[in-house]
Amino acid sequence: MLVSANTSVLTEKSQKRVDYLQWSDYFMAIAFLSAMRSKDPNSQVGACVVNKEKKIVGIGYNGMPNGCSDDDLPWNREADNILDTKYPYVCHAEMNAILNKNSADLKDCTIYVALFPCNECAKLIIQSGIKEIVYLSDKYHNDYKMVASRQLLDMAGVKYRQHIPQHSQILIDFDSINIPVGKHHKEPKSVSSP
Ligand SMILES: [Zn+2]
Repeated sequence: MLVSANTSVLTEKSQKRVDYLQWSDYFMAIAFLSAMRSKDPNSQVGACVVNKEKKIVGIGYNGMPNGCSDDDLPWNREADNILDTKYPYVCHAEMNAILNKNSADLKDCTIYVALFPCNECAKLIIQSGIKEIVYLSDKYHNDYKMVASRQLLDMAGVKYRQHIPQHSQILIDFDSINIPVGKHHKEPKSVSSP
């Protein structure tokens, strides 16, 4: 509360918002938002590369290579012939985020990704100079690709840590911008973990 010297009218000072998104939730949310672009019917993964100044320098999601029709290539996870599955063709989110970079290099950057990276993405991460991985899920922990990935990352000195989000959900409400000033309760609307 501030007391005006002239009129003694009490004026309440506006405080800054306290429920704003923390950096790591923000970057992970951007990875998840990017994943919503994926055409993969089974697995939508996004990734976001951030430099030391907390600037985003690359974004990607899993999809077929440029110029290769995602209508013609298969999205199956299983088939008698592996050439009829998506695996030989699809580009992972990490690959696209790294190759989409808008900076000279990714030295000492952090990559935020929904799933722990596979061994092929670990190679790209290491070679690109990224020094830290922040992932949300490690649901394929025992798959040989993740075992190999951890082995490579450990040898190369790339750190990795699981992100524990402060909010279990982040809702984007496009109508919120039209709510008159003073009527906002929360922006962006967020639902705290139970
Ligand atoms: Zn991968």
